[in-house]
Amino acid sequence: MKSTKYILSLDQGTTSSRALLIDLNGTICEVCQKEFPQHFPHPTFVEHDPMDILNSQLEVTRQVIQDGCSENDEIAALGITNQRETTIVWNKHTGKPVYNAIVWQCRRTAEYCKQLIENNNADMIHKKTGLVIDAYFSGPKIRWILDNVDGARSAAEKGDLLFGTVDTWLVWNLTGGKCHVTDYSNASRTMLFNINTLKWDDELLTLMEIPKAMLPEVKESSMIYAHTEKSVFGKSIPIGGILGDQQAALFGNLCLEPGSIKNTYGTGAFMLMNTGSEPVLSQDGLLTTIAWGLKGKVTYALEGSVFMAGATIQWLRENLGLIKDAAESETLADSVDDSYGVYFVPAFQGLGTPYWDMDAKAAITGLTRGAKRAHIVRAALEAIAYRINDVITIMQKDTGMELKDMRGDGGAAVNNFLLQFQADISNLSIIRPKNIESTAMGAAFAAGLATGFWKNLDELKTMKEYDRVFTPEMSHDKRQKLYQGWLDAVKSVLK
Ligand code: ADP
Repeated sequence: MKSTKYILSLDQGTTSSRALLIDLNGTICEVCQKEFPQHFPHPTFVEHDPMDILNSQLEVTRQVIQDGCSENDEIAALGITNQRETTIVWNKHTGKPVYNAIVWQCRRTAEYCKQLIENNNADMIHKKTGLVIDAYFSGPKIRWILDNVDGARSAAEKGDLLFGTVDTWLVWNLTGGKCHVTDYSNASRTMLFNINTLKWDDELLTLMEIPKAMLPEVKESSMIYAHTEKSVFGKSIPIGGILGDQQAALFGNLCLEPGSIKNTYGTGAFMLMNTGSEPVLSQDGLLTTIAWGLKGKVTYALEGSVFMAGATIQWLRENLGLIKDAAESETLADSVDDSYGVYFVPAFQGLGTPYWDMDAKAAITGLTRGAKRAHIVRAALEAIAYRINDVITIMQKDTGMELKDMRGDGGAAVNNFLLQFQADISNLSIIRPKNIESTAMGAAFAAGLATGFWKNLDELKTMKEYDRVFTPEMSHDKRQKLYQGWLDAVKSVLK
């Protein structure tokens, strides 16, 4: 019987764990997904049980191997992509977590982050880590565990505890506790890693009182780190790729050249731009991060996010009942020629980049007697594109790079009206990839490159397939007028 070779991609997300089997042509042959519980022990706390993360990931991985692989088939390597920043601390002798995983969304360290800012650390931390001080990042979360779990600090100081983001936790368990590693993309989200020297930063470790012995070794994003213990999947598989989820999506979209950019239109939107071999520090609140380390070279990225993207459409459906499902937003938007002067500013959680006004509230402006449901729905879709355009504008300003196109993926990218309006308002071609699993593909590409499954980046590029390219059709004057109207509407909600 003929054997097939696969790459296994482990996609460990915030609400579910997924595993995918991918063949040499980049075709996804098998997928399995399992959700796991979210814990909210306090209004601002978000936690996962690290054993749920591990067990759900093991379960779906075993399932795809069982469903998709015959005896003769071979798994060339596995790659991991993961929810970023989520923090796990465990005992290295017993493998037992000392506390639940503190999830990236958790705000319990906000007060400590405020103190860091008040003590004038923002500039130093931005220069060293590329990050704007925020409760998202892992360093303060580790500190919280050491300060709040009985005996944790002394155990850490004795060298008994290990820290890991989710990639590290998975690799450690897959290798029977033999391998304690992470990659540059994940390390750069801890607020402890110096993205210039590519080392854990002693000054930051001292500031946050974190013993260095807890930290994993930081490696490239595509290399053979170790092999899985045979008992885990019934065979020993090389672990060949690690990438944080957004960086994996950038890689999976093959945004390999400086200036290439992807936006994921999900609940929120995450935009990453490849800025090449030098970090670019933003003056407007974008994050500088490591995209990946590959073959002795580190590639940097700028990252901007928008809190409300697809969630705006969800709000129209769930809170107003204006649409019966998300897809209807497209039909309604297309049923009118324009938004009739209506603007929808979705500042439900304040406004981030570049306004940074956490007290702003959402508003629908420009309503007149003639305004209809379709105009409001259309304005909501347009608002997503305007917010993304706000971020694109800042990225262009901070990098001085002229952009030509942007890749668009994520759940709301199925909306043709949205992507066409994005192309028009941003004067950019928006490319929608055929394979929307860019995050899982990024991890698979990294693992496949490490083992020679795919020879080089050129071979990956032959797998690039587009579903549709949206090209700008709007006149310059109309674009200016509409965008100015948006900026005026935003101004009216800022505090
Ligand atoms: P996440 O991974 O962030 O949870 P997804 O990538 O699955 O999210 O995207 C889900 C979001 O996309 C939801 O907020 C939903 O409202 C939005 N969405 C789904 N389909 C459409 C559509 N046809 N038009 C506009 N938005 C959509």
